[in-house]
Amino acid sequence: MCGVVGVVLPGGGHEAAGVAATALFALQHRGQESAGVGVADGGDLMIYKDLGMVGQVLDERRIPSLRGELAVAHCRYSTTGSTVWENAQPTLRLGPRRALAIGHNGNLVNTRELLDQLHGGRGRLPASTDTELLTALLADEPAADTVDALVRVLPRVRGAYSLVILDERRVIGVRDPHGFRPLVLGRITASGDAPGLWGDDTAGWILASETAALDIVGAEVVRDVEPGEIVVLEPGREPRSVRYADATPALCVFELIYFARPDSYMEGRNLYEARRHMGMELAREHPVDADLVMPVPDTGAPAAAGFAEASGLPYREGLVRNRYSGRTFIQPSQSMRQRGVNVKLSPLREVVRDRRLIVVDDSIVRGTTTKQIVGLLRKAGAKEVHLRISAPPIFHPCFYGIDTAIERELIAATHTLEEIRAFVGADSLGYLSVPGVLAALDLPYDRFCFACFDGRYPEPVPYDVEERKLMLETVGA
Ligand code: SF4
Repeated sequence: MCGVVGVVLPGGGHEAAGVAATALFALQHRGQESAGVGVADGGDLMIYKDLGMVGQVLDERRIPSLRGELAVAHCRYSTTGSTVWENAQPTLRLGPRRALAIGHNGNLVNTRELLDQLHGGRGRLPASTDTELLTALLADEPAADTVDALVRVLPRVRGAYSLVILDERRVIGVRDPHGFRPLVLGRITASGDAPGLWGDDTAGWILASETAALDIVGAEVVRDVEPGEIVVLEPGREPRSVRYADATPALCVFELIYFARPDSYMEGRNLYEARRHMGMELAREHPVDADLVMPVPDTGAPAAAGFAEASGLPYREGLVRNRYSGRTFIQPSQSMRQRGVNVKLSPLREVVRDRRLIVVDDSIVRGTTTKQIVGLLRKAGAKEVHLRISAPPIFHPCFYGIDTAIERELIAATHTLEEIRAFVGADSLGYLSVPGVLAALDLPYDRFCFACFDGRYPEPVPYDVEERKLMLETVGA
């Protein structure tokens, strides 16, 4: 996943970094391993980054020292490269031709090929991420400016990338031709329905992964950055659009099912409402007689509400989530995930004891977390546990920025429906179908990537999945 933000705030002193950090705070769910911000003031460009959560890394003591009217920010969830300080973003490259800092959401699929292009394969990288490689290619490209470098380099780059790029004079947003990951453009304004927060004469521009990040800083949504588009933001100017490739849209449908915040909007849909409709479709596809419907908090809640509404059964909360623990799915290792669920959820015995429960969740990846949740509910006295999943079974790995596990770790890839039900210990199990997802969204199939459900990868993936995450570990200088 990862969250990215770019801000241009003319005359704002140190506030571009403050606005970027505040917006990034609304994207914390997209990555919890590291955070960072890059700033520029028309001359110098600098970054500050560290391992940890946004609020820990970018606190109020740090922000005032990050001066400039241009800023980019990033929170990381690793898909290429391990969780070490060097791999935190934004990247920084003070190249012979230009200085660049980049925040990247997504994952490239021709990293090995690109590595060969970096000074004929003799280039050295200070970190082991595909973003570091891309930064080096762009900073070293002989071109008049950063936009020209992008137009030359990006046609050679394949995979998923929503980028925020900072050079000394501008912030640039880029979305790959498929638009796998979202990126939205907003306006920070001092008037109208969305007043700016930083004084009467403040007006600027913002790029962010989700509309919720615009809301938190009082910015208004202008539009999505289009797949295959470069959007250039410079102080005192209207945004400039450069198209470098034809759009072949394939937004990750999992963004709408689970990853993005429910208060965000994508493809014109509010995601809480989209998920509530998925729950309603799920109830139509997999009805079951029970006493109540409950979510696996927090992300299963909208679909559970929809399931209850469509089935006419009461909605209750039977699990309490420790709101200070991270999201289980995006922690990077299996052992961390296993520790995670024990501290994350507690059953409400009064709700679940002697009841037949319909438990709604948004995905089963490896099945281990689900098994622990069913176990918690049984231990608390549940009479029956009927599991309903508001997404189709995940049969295939993701190569485009979600570390869903390799194929043999995906329980749906190696087990039948009945075997999964038995493994997790549920009385029954039902998944929403792909047509059910589309009916809930009321949008056509060809707008989205559904590859982890149906194996139809919009961008071919050439190399062995098992070596991809740490493939650049050995080339770091
Ligand atoms: S493979 Fe799945 S998780 Fe990855 S981009 Fe496509 S829909 Fe999203």
